[in-house]
Amino acid sequence: MSLSFPLHANPTPAGDADVARVLADPGFGDHFTDHMVVATWTSDGGWQGDAVQPYGPFLMDPATAVLHYAQEIFEGMKAYRHADGSIHLFRPEANARRFQTSAARLMLPELPTEDFIRAVAALVAADSRWVPEATGERSLYIRPFLFASEVFLGVRAAQRVTFSVIASPAGPYFTGGVKPVDIWVTDTYARAGIGGTGSAKCGGNYAASLIAQYEGYEHGCSQVLFIEAADKDRVEELGGMNVFLVTSDGRLVTPALTGTILEGITRDSILTVAGELGLVPEERRVTPEELFDGIADGSTVEAFSCGTAAVVTPIGAFKSTRGEWRLPENGSPQTIGIRNAILDIQYGRVPDTHGWLQRVV
Ligand SMILES: *Cc1c(COP(=O)(O)O)cnc(C)c1O
Repeated sequence: MSLSFPLHANPTPAGDADVARVLADPGFGDHFTDHMVVATWTSDGGWQGDAVQPYGPFLMDPATAVLHYAQEIFEGMKAYRHADGSIHLFRPEANARRFQTSAARLMLPELPTEDFIRAVAALVAADSRWVPEATGERSLYIRPFLFASEVFLGVRAAQRVTFSVIASPAGPYFTGGVKPVDIWVTDTYARAGIGGTGSAKCGGNYAASLIAQYEGYEHGCSQVLFIEAADKDRVEELGGMNVFLVTSDGRLVTPALTGTILEGITRDSILTVAGELGLVPEERRVTPEELFDGIADGSTVEAFSCGTAAVVTPIGAFKSTRGEWRLPENGSPQTIGIRNAILDIQYGRVPDTHGWLQRVV
C-alpha cells in the first residue's frame, strides 16, 4: 500500500514578513520551513503514520539506537523555482533510488521510490512560499533522512525506523560568488575502504571526514580530497562532492565508481551533458601522480568539484605534504560552461531535453 502523506497544517506558521526576511538572505541550512514529513516503519507493521506535519523536535529516549550505532542515511536535493513561478525537482527518482541503495547497505528498510518522491513533493507543495524566486541561484534545499528510532542498545538492525524530510531555503553555497577553492590532499585520513560505506550516503561517513577537513583548514584549504586507503593509488572524491579534471585535449575525466565513491547525481548529469559541450567524458582510475603531474606539465587545465549543494566549484590548487600544484588562472571556462549548463536546466532556462525535471507546483 502506498503512502499519501496527508497535510496536518501548521496552526502557527511563520509570518509573511519573516519568510520574506529569510528568503532575502537565506544562508545555507540555517532556517527551516513550517512543515516536515514523517513516517514510521516497524518490522511488524511496515510503513505507517505518514504525514506532512508542523516542523518540530523529535522527542528521543536516550537509548534510541541511532544515537549509539549511527544507523542512519540521508539525501540532499533541491526544489527550483522557474521564472513563471512553477517549482521543479531535479531527477528526484535518482535520489529515491540512491536512498534505497544507502538503506540496504545500512540494514534499514527500503522506502518505495514513489513514496519517497510523493513525500518530497508534498512537503514542497505545503511550503511552496518558502521556495525563493529564481534569481541569485537560490533554491529550497531538501533533506530526506532515515534513522533507527527503536529504543535498545543491542547491535542488530533496528525494528523501528523513522523517515523524515525537512527543507531549508538556500542561497549560493559559497557566498561571494564562484571563486576557485584550494583542496587539501590528505595522506593521513581515509573516508572509505573497499567493502565499507563509501558509496552509501550515511552520516557516519561525514563524521569520519571532519578531522581531515580540519587538517585541510590548517593548510589554507576549504575541502579535502581523499585517496583510496589501501594502495594510495586512486583519487576518490571530496568529503561531500565528486571531482573532475579537464585536459588540454578536451577530455573530462572523473574517477570511476569502485564502491568507495558516492555516486553523485550532479556527477552523472555532467557526464551526460559533457558531449553536448564538446568534451569527451572519461570515467577511469586517476592516480595521485597523474593528477599532480598533469597540472605540472600543463595537460590538466581545469579541475572542479560537484554536488547538489554547491553545484560546480572550480579548484584553484591541490596541496599535500608533497607540494602544491596550482591550476592556470584562466577563468575556468569549461568549468563555468558546465556549471551554467546544469543550472540552466535546473532553473528551466533551456529546454529539459533529458526529462530531468519534475514539476511539483
Ligand atoms: C551527496 C554527496 C555527493 C554529491 O552527490 P550529488 O547527488 O551530486 O549531490 C558526493 N560525495 C559525497 C560523499 C556525498 O555525500
